[in-house]
Amino acid sequence: MNNLTIEDLLNLVRAYEPTKINIVEQAYKFADLLHSGQLRQSGEPYIIHPLNVACTLAEMHADIDTICAGLLHDTLEDTKVTKEEIIETFNGDVATLVDGVTKISKINFSTRDDEDLANTRKIITSITTDVRIIIIKLADRLHNMRTLQYKKKEKQQENALETLEIFVPLAHYIGAHRIKMELEDLSLQYLRPDAYKSIEEKRSLIEEENTEYLFNMRNTINNILNENSIENWIKICIKNIYGIYKDLENDYNLSSIHDLLALKIAVANTENCYRSLGLIHSKYHPVNELFKDYICNPKNNMYQSLHTTVFGEANKLIQLQIRDYDMDRVASFGLATYWYINGCDAREVMQKKLTEKCQFFKTLSEINSVFANNQDFVNQIKSELFSNRIYVYNTGGIAIELPKNSTPIDFAYKLSTNNGNHLVAAIVNDKYVPLNYSLSDNDRVEIQCNDLSRPTSEWLDVVQTTKAKRLIKEYLKEMKSYS
Ligand code: MN
Repeated sequence: MNNLTIEDLLNLVRAYEPTKINIVEQAYKFADLLHSGQLRQSGEPYIIHPLNVACTLAEMHADIDTICAGLLHDTLEDTKVTKEEIIETFNGDVATLVDGVTKISKINFSTRDDEDLANTRKIITSITTDVRIIIIKLADRLHNMRTLQYKKKEKQQENALETLEIFVPLAHYIGAHRIKMELEDLSLQYLRPDAYKSIEEKRSLIEEENTEYLFNMRNTINNILNENSIENWIKICIKNIYGIYKDLENDYNLSSIHDLLALKIAVANTENCYRSLGLIHSKYHPVNELFKDYICNPKNNMYQSLHTTVFGEANKLIQLQIRDYDMDRVASFGLATYWYINGCDAREVMQKKLTEKCQFFKTLSEINSVFANNQDFVNQIKSELFSNRIYVYNTGGIAIELPKNSTPIDFAYKLSTNNGNHLVAAIVNDKYVPLNYSLSDNDRVEIQCNDLSRPTSEWLDVVQTTKAKRLIKEYLKEMKSYS
């Protein structure tokens, strides 16, 4: 696959934008000329890298500006070209995208750490200006990780860690699930080579032992659905290596991982998802606690699907994911799906979905406005957004995403400033709890407010979220100025 040529890229783009092939060809020639003489560490001509990045983008049906930016993404950083020349030769959007993925010039920093932190912040916050920047950056990182074997050992470790800490969470939040899983596995391969190898071996054994079993189950379900005139296709799936690694780390053993073996079932519409679920449950017994309705309660990265784990033949646990065709694309590509659905208008749709549907976006903006120092910003993003998150439910059954160890105070402020400032009591799963109670996944949270109730400075010691902390401080400051 590293022998990609410009023809491969043109063929990918021709399939959905046949009239704009010449622009892509022009961008390729432009980048090729600028990078001429430069080699990758693998010894190949440099252009092979931007070409791979552009192909990953074309596989997602990216718009032409994004494809051009993919081809040009390293030119501002590594060649003599200027932003103005890119504007003149292409357009302002292409230049903005390329600028977005370009590192800030070294001369602005006194240490390497300062430089890295500023660039990390630039990448993370670029999502607020144009989400396409992140998608290009992910395609870039994907190819760099795929070819990491040519780098020095220290660089491998550094890049793999950064990928796991920064790029995997970003891929998660924009729903780029396929890229996320590949990045996870590649990172683990370099960070924990022994664990990677051992799980890889176990996984191929599992695959060998279960493939026929899964095929049979697939056929059975396929027949049941066909008999009921539900058009469908079903894919067989085994959990990725990093996913298994995380489960084992959390003290599961291989046979207790309920989603190790899965069937992904796609049907034409939502109604057929629920009909299929009923038909499948009457054939295979479900495990009640493991049923999830992410169609009515979508995940915060817009993922929608029904999840159920059933006892298959011989009482093997099999996870079934049931969704419609559009949801299935979102499950693989997240926001990038809108390129496929909306074509050239996709950019606005993506940005709108992100600002309106993703709680992630609001939290990121909050952290960005509160923390001026880059080190503080990156630390807070890592602890509040990129580490373990929990989902709790409000009284209306809506899922609210919070960092681990969040309290009812964080929950109340997440709902609104007023709820936080007048919070007096909290009820979790029908029982009163103290306000410093540490919430867990799936808790049902109800808060009680009273006009006379006020935040106290002790709250600052227990809250986890930037928003709660800022609003409490603001309130206490205001009180002081009155007294
Ligand atoms: Mn690059």
